[in-house]
Amino acid sequence: MKQILPNSTVGVFGSGQLGRMFAIEARQMGYRVHTFSPESDTPTGQVADYETVAEYEDLDAVEKFAKTVDVVTFEFENVPFETVEKAAQSIAVFPRGEVLHIAQHRLREKTFLSQNGFPVTAFRRVKTLEELKIAVAEIGVLSILKTAGFGYDGKGQAKIKSLEDCETAFAQIKENEAVLEAFVDFEKEVSVVAARDLEGNFAHYGVIENAHKNHILDVSFAPALVSEKIKNEAIEITRGILETLEVVGVMTVEFFLTKDEKLLVNELAPRPHNSGHLTIDAFICSQFEQQLRAVCGLPLGSTELLRPAAMANLLGDLWQNGEPNFAAALKNETVKLHLYGKQEARCGRKMGHLTALAETAEASVKIVEKARKLLTADLRR
Ligand code: AMP
Repeated sequence: MKQILPNSTVGVFGSGQLGRMFAIEARQMGYRVHTFSPESDTPTGQVADYETVAEYEDLDAVEKFAKTVDVVTFEFENVPFETVEKAAQSIAVFPRGEVLHIAQHRLREKTFLSQNGFPVTAFRRVKTLEELKIAVAEIGVLSILKTAGFGYDGKGQAKIKSLEDCETAFAQIKENEAVLEAFVDFEKEVSVVAARDLEGNFAHYGVIENAHKNHILDVSFAPALVSEKIKNEAIEITRGILETLEVVGVMTVEFFLTKDEKLLVNELAPRPHNSGHLTIDAFICSQFEQQLRAVCGLPLGSTELLRPAAMANLLGDLWQNGEPNFAAALKNETVKLHLYGKQEARCGRKMGHLTALAETAEASVKIVEKARKLLTADLRR
């Protein structure tokens, strides 16, 4: 593949915040950005050069889009596989469609991981209520039923605590194919954001530690508080996954660290990840710049950590009583504000994030959490 150099146009399927932060980096490096999604005035569209508004199923529009760009990547893994295949007939798409095909479907993803020797929690494919009951009997009552396809941030999931829960869980899933997973009593959740280029060079951001609230990422920090052994294992598993899938671009591996110090892969994201947002301010080359470099055939950038950092997500809930007090949160001068340009602040919707840098990861968590609290504190009191 020839290198795609600055002034070329990078196409992006999807138009959310990941595409926005990618577009900002791409434009900084002199690229043009063309985003494709069914919505208009999107987080990505607001900073892109061109915004195509069309359904992913509109394959004529996809072909037209693919013919106007020099390479295509994506920021959203639920872009239909057929859409990516259509684009790939005209122009290179990275990561390639097969990677997306596996990562967008829990069953294919878990099957790929276990068949290739990567550690995952016990799981079963479930198509009927009968199969669910058998699966629960096999892997244990404490389990989670998840839709096989489209799902994120805990959507399309039902916890099972007893055999009696099977019927309600099955009804809740509302899909004809699901995955039953054994519940993991984890110590913590961590992730490794990594990149791989066309020549097979690999770069990673070490281990990032993540805390969720209501299944949505709440706070991430780097470096994670894990042993050297766990750190090396997580990185080697990630390297193995990217190599096996021949990923070109960025991929994130989410892990559970169990109480007996074992790593289990929870999910793959074939793109930059919410837990990697702190790489913008805390590492030499961010996950978004890395995605750009990898898909354009440029050398990968340094993933050296400049300073320990923490990131706190800002959900729409913070807007419930009006615009948050950004000035109060920014009083601490190491705090950085990132907003995604979303007009409607719904509860649970990711509106932006704060990043704080400090001497230690623990200190940065304290600063970023305090700053987030100040967003809604009444300063007059
Ligand atoms: P997911 O969308 O599958 O990544 O799930 C969202 C969150 O739900 C995870 O980050 C965990 O906090 C929790 N979760 C998902 N699967 C399991 C599991 N098998 N055991 C325990 N917690 C889980």
